[in-house]
Amino acid sequence: MSMSKRRFIQALGAATAVTAMGASVAATRNRRYDLLVIGAGTAGIPAAIFAAARGASVLVIDAAATIGGTLLLTSGQMSAAGTRVQKQQGIDDTPELFFQDLIRISRGTVDQPIARLAVDNAATTFDWLMDNGYPLLPGYPVEGVAHEPYSKPRYYWSDLRGIGILDAMRPKFTQAINAGKVDLLLEHRAVELRTNAAGSVAAVVVEDAGGKRTEYRPRNVLLASGGYASNAAMFEKLSGHPKYLDGSYPFALGQGHVLAESVGGYLRYAEKYLTNFGILLATSTIPSTKLATTIFHPQQRQPWEIYVNTSGKRFVREDVPSVDAREQALHFQPHLRHWVVFDQTVLDKAPPMLEGWTRDDLVSALKGPDANFFRSETIQGLAKAIGVPEKALADTVEGYNYGVHTGNDFFGRKHLPTKLQQAPYYAIQHQGTSITSTAGIAVNEALQVIRRDQSAIPNLYAAGEILGAGATQGQAFCGGMMVTPALTFGRLLGERMIRLG
Ligand SMILES: Cc1cc2nc3c(=O)[nH]c(=O)nc-3n(C[C@H](O)[C@H](O)[C@H](O)COP(=O)(O)OP(=O)(O)OC[C@H]3O[C@@H](n4cnc5c(N)ncnc54)[C@H](O)[C@@H]3O)c2cc1C
Repeated sequence: MSMSKRRFIQALGAATAVTAMGASVAATRNRRYDLLVIGAGTAGIPAAIFAAARGASVLVIDAAATIGGTLLLTSGQMSAAGTRVQKQQGIDDTPELFFQDLIRISRGTVDQPIARLAVDNAATTFDWLMDNGYPLLPGYPVEGVAHEPYSKPRYYWSDLRGIGILDAMRPKFTQAINAGKVDLLLEHRAVELRTNAAGSVAAVVVEDAGGKRTEYRPRNVLLASGGYASNAAMFEKLSGHPKYLDGSYPFALGQGHVLAESVGGYLRYAEKYLTNFGILLATSTIPSTKLATTIFHPQQRQPWEIYVNTSGKRFVREDVPSVDAREQALHFQPHLRHWVVFDQTVLDKAPPMLEGWTRDDLVSALKGPDANFFRSETIQGLAKAIGVPEKALADTVEGYNYGVHTGNDFFGRKHLPTKLQQAPYYAIQHQGTSITSTAGIAVNEALQVIRRDQSAIPNLYAAGEILGAGATQGQAFCGGMMVTPALTFGRLLGERMIRLG
């Protein structure tokens, strides 16, 4: 069983207490709620907590049998500037510096008003989680983990990953349910939005697990239904690449996107799709689970190998310190695929390359046959095995060996420990992937869903991954800039941005 599935099942156990408290449909049917939240996940839970604290009556529905959404699976890395934890540690940081970092890392491709709203309010969100027992790992915040580092340590993490965030919010959510301020219907899916003559949402049609439909007429609706990464067809249509990797939340099906579009909303930012650098897929049928992750950060392990694309050519300086530079280079390679190529000398001398794998694990995998691991006595044989042009791969290796000999690598690579000339030769296939949704529903600065003419649907709001990674990260991966904005926008909408009454 994959790590993410195991965590998901563990978390299901933890969520049972809330599941049992779900309201009955009969009790909810005739109430005119101030707010109906579609999705009890990262954005939806804080929205309900803060709206209830403001005195609103709230109905939360979720398609799943448990609350939590992607928090059950996510790494849950957050970023925030100006937090209490930073002050306690003497870290001088501000939302302005955070915003400048986002502009630098995304090369100006974030949606600036949306990103500004997120960073200006992230510290309050994070401090609130800390007040509620968020189990911050010792040694945090740091500048970076998996993505391009920030200029200040503002990156927070828990060894409970997203469940650490859910556990911090769960008591407040449960209290609001117990106090009768929030009604929760699990295994209830929003299937239709109905508008009135003025274009506002007049009704939400909700379907239970048995297919029975109920119409609710709330004053406001929040789409907090997450992304579309578990909808393979939608993912491929919007990203231009197949859904290679499993591991997104099973209910991230883009249903909220379809609902928003049905009342005049529209999608934007699909063009900002970016891939993570390659991983090893467990199977050739996709979406696949992950078999292993290669250590590509030269800060952790300098590369001894070369990376080649489907043309048998190198495409990036393998020891480039920037994570973003590697990702951008892979973004332009066919099928987002590459092979790590090396020889027997590298296998004998280099430090382990796959996270958590010993050298013996690698040696036995390389004996094959396997869809990821290839071995041949000649470069030409290796090229044939991986399906790239033989002469091109031979030229690539020869060109690389010239760089090792002279110190003048064609790509400017500095770490050139050994020529690749000792048979057998090896290749490990890597696949670029992403398991989040880049495109999102267009909103204005009040987080109201807007139509193509930029007019707002007054009582329809959206928060979380439904806004698209392209909004908060641009065409880049900016650490923590999905979880933190989802929590923050949920909080802000509940606390003050949704117009009640
Ligand atoms: C493995 C993984 C690792 C990640 N790591 C990070 C990270 O470290 N840092 C970071 O910033 N981001 C990370 N992300 C992304 C981030 O976790 C998500 O973008 C974020 O949690 C999504 O929050 P959300 O509220 O939009 O959606 P969710 O938390 O998924 O909540 C949406 C809820 O809506 C429900 N729903 C869907 N459709 C309907 C419907 N029609 N009716 C009723 N309910 C519905 C779902 O069941 C779900 O409970 C990661 C994502 C994954 C998958």
